[in-house]
Amino acid sequence: MDFLDAKISAYAENHSENEPELLQQLNRETYAKVLMPRMLSGHMQGRILSMFSHMVRPRRILEIGTYTGYSALCLAEGLTEDGLLYTIDINDELEPMSSKYFKASPYADRISVHVGNALEIIPKIQETFDLVFIDADKENYSNYFDMVWDLLRPGGIIIADNVLWSGHVLKDVSQMDDETTALHAFNEKIHADPRCKHVLMPVRDGLMVIMK
Ligand code: SAH
Ligand code: CA
Repeated sequence: MDFLDAKISAYAENHSENEPELLQQLNRETYAKVLMPRMLSGHMQGRILSMFSHMVRPRRILEIGTYTGYSALCLAEGLTEDGLLYTIDINDELEPMSSKYFKASPYADRISVHVGNALEIIPKIQETFDLVFIDADKENYSNYFDMVWDLLRPGGIIIADNVLWSGHVLKDVSQMDDETTALHAFNEKIHADPRCKHVLMPVRDGLMVIMK
């Protein structure tokens, strides 16, 4: 579902920074070879993630849900020189492709790839994060939020993707599938949490932006 008029979307994209060449290649290769390419963030959302990262200037980023590596490369653009981005994905079949693009990027030494279940990997990471991107299995968004909260520095940012879930969050609660139920519960939880400054940006499929 597109929330925005197609011409307005195209105009906005055409007046935003171009998609870097390496990301154009990754975008094309994902669409040619990988299942469910729509999961890739893409030009506009990628530039938004890059902008957030440049604004935060993070030293430590955690990404939950690497897929083919597109959003990781966008987020890495704002890392400090001594920065490090941890990215986790459960699907080991995607790792050769994401790693190939990480190696070809200027951030090869600043991306740490973890293959496995994020629920098991996050507790093993001992870091203080400045920026967290939640974009893996929707059923666990609230769990991921709870797991990363203490790892996030005060003033740090969490961005959660797909929180509008193609508009399914508008359905009657009794009509929601498991993913929609979980995303709706996540949105309600954040909205009720006095520790979170937050704005649900109706960008693409919905970005919940939270500041601790
Ligand atoms: N962030 C990417 C898209 C991520 S798609 C981008 O914007 O380009 C969601 C990813 O979450 C998939 O690759 C899937 O394998 C992964 N995933 C699903 N459940 C997971 C889990 N429990 N732990 C880690 N990764 C998971
Ligand atoms: Ca996503």
